[in-house]
Order: sequence, then structure tokens, then C-alpha cells
Amino acid sequence: MPLLDKFGRAISDLRISVTDRCNYKCVYCRTGNEGALYGELAFADYLRMARVLVGLGVTKVRLTGGEPLLRNGIVDFVRELAKLNTNSDHAIEIALTTNGHLLADLARPLKEAGLGRVTVSMDAVDPDRFARITRVPSGFDNVLAGIRAARDAGLGPVKLNCVLMRGFNEDQIIPFGLFAREEGVIVRFIEFMPLEEDRVWSRSTVVTLDEILARMSEYRPLVEIPHARSETARRYRFDDGIGEIGIIAPVSHPFCGHCSRIRITSDGKIRTCLFSVWDHDLHAQMRRGASDEELAEFIRGVVMKKEERHHIGEPDFVPASRTMVHIGG
Ligand code: SAM
Repeated sequence: MPLLDKFGRAISDLRISVTDRCNYKCVYCRTGNEGALYGELAFADYLRMARVLVGLGVTKVRLTGGEPLLRNGIVDFVRELAKLNTNSDHAIEIALTTNGHLLADLARPLKEAGLGRVTVSMDAVDPDRFARITRVPSGFDNVLAGIRAARDAGLGPVKLNCVLMRGFNEDQIIPFGLFAREEGVIVRFIEFMPLEEDRVWSRSTVVTLDEILARMSEYRPLVEIPHARSETARRYRFDDGIGEIGIIAPVSHPFCGHCSRIRITSDGKIRTCLFSVWDHDLHAQMRRGASDEELAEFIRGVVMKKEERHHIGEPDFVPASRTMVHIGG
């Protein structure tokens, strides 16, 4: 039986944050300071959580953070996760979201360990702009090398996540269209959400789907590609068939009604929505000696409490109890 919430949504997509440490300080995510950390668990704990959730019907596991490639042993962890495929009655896709800084050397080992796909966050194709956003002076070349290594290792199609924030990088829309065509990657623009540590979000800082489409169409006409209902991105190809872009528009075009996601934080809490105001301590259940069946029961109960939708920009909006770096995007 699929893992269903009370609105009938099936939960098939698990995101595990393996650390809330990060080597970047992106303006839309973190403060310029180090900030507090919630902590990390042993990989064996995440593996058990993943195994129980796969047993409940999860088909996709995405590793994220913080920056997941900062964790020693990440390649071995992917190898162990991939083994869940052997013991499951359905196929499991393993994916990773990274800032790409350490990816060049890890892409091939990760692929060989069983990683299926990688998404790299990159918010400007101009190195100076990139440095201003990430607050890391020399990361651009590493990320570019990481993207190319991932593509060459067969971790494709490589997707890039670009969070657009007015005043920082809205002029990068067309350059990213060119980049997608030249590098053979799928660029996905993400509307800025109020999940940042600096609390600078306002509706006016969001570069919306309509605006992105209008700007990109000045460069070349776009043709919409049909997408699965649970897919977060609306997909478009250029009219000549070269290059694909996506737009993830949680602010201007929310997709909560088709949400299939559940998240585990690096300290072992379940979050049923990015904008949850509480989380559910799965690791505490493990510490008290719960069996796999008891964990499954706990998870079923938590999923029933999944929020119907977020309330971004509405008068009753309550900020999430954690910021993105401590949730895992
Ligand atoms: N460090 C990894 C990375 O950079 O991809 C993984 C963690 S990061 C929190 C995951 C994704 O969340 C990134 O693609 C990032 O751009 C996105 N993100 C972070 N803060 C965001 C915000 N306030 N609004 C929208 N997306 C955000």
C-alpha cells in the first residue's frame, strides 16, 4: 500500500540531508557568518531510515544538505543506498544536490557507487556575480569543472538549480539559456522562497515564472514540454530543439497539491513540508529501540499530518521553524 497522506497524496520522494554544514554562504540561503549547527548522524542511521521508507513505497532518494559532499564516506553511503535496490520490489533512483565545489573528483566514484543523477546549484554564469552570491571568492571554476565531470561520468542529464533574486542575478536569465545549450545541461530557475537565514525575503525580491519566460523568450521562443504532475519544474525547450530549461515556481504557481516529498534533516527529524513549523523526531524513536515496524508506523502517522499547502506571501504566513540549510532543499 502506498504511503498516503490525508489528502490522498502518495509520498514517493525522500530527501535526506546528511549534514547542515556548508562551504558556501549563498545570499538567498545563509548569513555571512558560520551560524549554529543542528548536527549529523552516522550514515548507518540514515540508511536504516531510508530502508524503512523504501519499504513504505519511496522510489526516489535524494541526498542533500548543507553540502553533502563535505561528508567523508559519502561515496560508500551511496553504494549502501544503491543496495536497497536489490532488496526492494521496486526500483529506487538515487540523486544528489550539491553546490558542485567538490564534485570534479567525486563524480566518477559516485556514479560507480550507484548514483543516478546530480543537480548542481549555480546562480550565475559570470564568475564575479557568482562570487557575490556565494560569498566564496574562487568557487566558479570548481563548479564548472564539477558540472563537466558529472556530465562526462554519465550522471545526466545534469540539472542546474539557479535561484533568482532581484538585484543579484535576474540579468543572468538569457546567459543561462546560452549556457544550457552550450553545455548540454538543464537549467532550472527557482523562485526565491522565504527560507533564508537573513530574513530578507519579500514578494518584490522574487523573479517570477512569468518574468523568466518573458525574458528568455526575448532570446528565443520556448515550447512547453509536458511534465509529470508531481514534478516540481515546468519544462520548456527552445524552438530549435537545442537546450532545455525548467522553472520551479513555488511562490507564483504553487504545486503543493501534487507534493510527493518528505524530508529527513541531518539530525534525524522528519519534515513533511519545507514550511513546517515543527518536525518529528525519527532518530529519537531509533534511540529508544523502536523496531523497523514501529518506525514504519511512526512514519505513517507523521505523513498523515503533512500540511495541505504553504502560505507564502499570505497574511497568516508563519516562517518555517528551520531555514533551508538546516532542512535540506
Ligand atoms: N549545498 C547543496 C546545494 O547548494 O545544492 C544542497 C543544499 S541547498 C540548501 C539545496 C537547494 O536549495 C539549492 O539548489 C539552493 O539553491 C536551494 N535554496 C536554498 N535556499 C533557497 C531559497 N531561499 N529559496 C529557493 N531555493 C533555495
